[in-house]
Amino acid sequence: MRIAIIGGGYVGLVSGACFAEFGVSVAVVEADAAKRQMLLEGRIPIYEPGLDKLVADNAAAGRLTFPETLEVGIAEAEAIFIAVGTPTRRGDGHADLTYVYAAVEQVLKALDHPAVIVTKSTVPVGTGRTILEMARRLRPDLAVEVASNPEFLREGSAIPDFMRPDRVVVGAESERARAVLRQLYRPLYLIETPILFTGLETAELIKYAANGFLAMKITFINEMADLCEKVGADVNDVARGIGLDGRIGRKFLHAGPGFGGSCFPKDTLALMRIAEEAGAPSRLIQSVVAVNDHRKDGLAARVVAACGGDVAGKVIAVLGLAFKPETDDMRESPALPLVRGLVSRGAQIQAFDPEAMETARPLLPARVTLAADAAGALTGADALVLVTEWNEFRVLPPARLRELMRGDVVVDLRNVFDPAPLRAAGFTYTGIGRPLP
Ligand code: NAD
Repeated sequence: MRIAIIGGGYVGLVSGACFAEFGVSVAVVEADAAKRQMLLEGRIPIYEPGLDKLVADNAAAGRLTFPETLEVGIAEAEAIFIAVGTPTRRGDGHADLTYVYAAVEQVLKALDHPAVIVTKSTVPVGTGRTILEMARRLRPDLAVEVASNPEFLREGSAIPDFMRPDRVVVGAESERARAVLRQLYRPLYLIETPILFTGLETAELIKYAANGFLAMKITFINEMADLCEKVGADVNDVARGIGLDGRIGRKFLHAGPGFGGSCFPKDTLALMRIAEEAGAPSRLIQSVVAVNDHRKDGLAARVVAACGGDVAGKVIAVLGLAFKPETDDMRESPALPLVRGLVSRGAQIQAFDPEAMETARPLLPARVTLAADAAGALTGADALVLVTEWNEFRVLPPARLRELMRGDVVVDLRNVFDPAPLRAAGFTYTGIGRPLP
């Protein structure tokens, strides 16, 4: 079977490499010439564990190609996946569908055989129907079908997520579209992955509902953490105490600095707009967006309070910049408002992230020093703020912190440090929703 994927970003490249690993012949069409060149040279434009090898192996086997033109890429493809970005539209929170419709139009113009156009990008409810209308209008001569196949992979564990997903969702209204996708996902069918066939609108909404729910879960535990701080309770134990209830579940109950990343912030905003426009506004999702924004805006003030009310002239080590570990993605990372807020209050920032230094640099104020490693960031620091829970930060011994830092403030925005040994070593430790001694 032959397929094409339009867009070689996180989702396009991972999906392409994984489908190729399933034995499918995949052409990933990437419009950005520099990115495409990197891919042709076997270099991966993003950091994602295992992706370099998967791409190299499948490219070497001839199953994964990066053609120069879309025309070549879609030739003989039975399914054409749209995996381009759907960022927040400036000003109104809607998903910006410019790239999606441009890609679909390019595909429709170049297509010379019947095919299924599949949206893998996260697109608002109704997009698939619009694409179907475009196909009928622009190519009445061809039997073009449309399907929605939202992607649920997480950055940092994208390959296992794609290879062993909890479920696959396919929104399609013709037997041919269903048959093509069933065939494509056959290896998952064999490992008994549930494959849920729905209508187009339902599949599109499942993706937003999933992200809205997960964002709500995170936001809920963050609010509980704030309450814990007021009443002397421990949010880690609260999360465990409720998470062991099978109806609630333990995942996504880690209190922290507020959610970021390439999906939750934009998808909650878009869901809010979709619901408003449909005449069924979601007050829950509206609250999630507002509470999370407020939380991220307040991060700098949290650190200032931990530093005794003033950070002017103080050196603050920021460990972790990416929105989560095992990625170099800086989109909507809580580190951004935190660092900007601290810099505007006169702090001197020494930051380090194991993978995100390059992506972070253009987004940070020029005055921020990027250190070569964690030790460099900590040297001479008055305070340490842990933002992203990379494993290498979890194991920093208090004695080493003592050696490197000149001050004694530790702000742990991910609750990864054990407070007792830090306090025993003379540090003032502040976590999220953890009681003071
Ligand atoms: P991305 O920005 O990393 O990648 C998009 C790529 O598409 C870019 O490389 C861009 O150059 C390319 N592109 C744009 N227009 C093109 C065209 N006409 N032809 C060829 N290439 C084109 O985005 P992403 O993070 O991969 O997200 C893609 C979609 O998947 C979004 O809708 C997102 O919400 C969704 N999604 C993302 C994730 C994630 O973890 N990143 C997870 C699930 C779903």
